[in-house]
Amino acid sequence: MLSNTMLKALNDQIQKEFASSYLYLAMAAYCDSKDLPGFASWLKVQAQEEWGHGMKIYEFVNDRGGTVRLQALPEPPAEFGGPVQVFEEVLSHEKSVTQSINDLYALALQENDYATQVMLHWFINEQVEEEKSASDIIAILKMAGEHVVVLDRRIGKRAED
Ligand code: MG
Repeated sequence: MLSNTMLKALNDQIQKEFASSYLYLAMAAYCDSKDLPGFASWLKVQAQEEWGHGMKIYEFVNDRGGTVRLQALPEPPAEFGGPVQVFEEVLSHEKSVTQSINDLYALALQENDYATQVMLHWFINEQVEEEKSASDIIAILKMAGEHVVVLDRRIGKRAED
């Protein structure tokens, strides 16, 4: 059984994962509007992954006998200022998600909640990957310079993998 404190923190994390999904979908819409379908595809795949993260915690809460309480999602921006800014915002957003996962883990330790600790191991590893993939894209975007459209078509292949 989850403690009330742990349950509330997990419900907050579900909201953050779904909010990430919504933010990345807004970034995809921005890239689509700028004729950058490759980045848009990458971001749509990312949005689906974030939805999956929210559902992973949803199912965990349910399996532990807790009640999922969905919260409102903030309206994401519609304007991002270019592809470099998009991916810089992805990276800074993922860093904030990493912090909230770390805070959840610290709470699970404090609560002696071993099952939640083990569940969070997957998310801790995932955040390493999330920050790395955003950093890698920022690095090649900066190198691509005026060839950003070529890079866009290549990044778009992720959606086909
Ligand atoms: Mg996530």
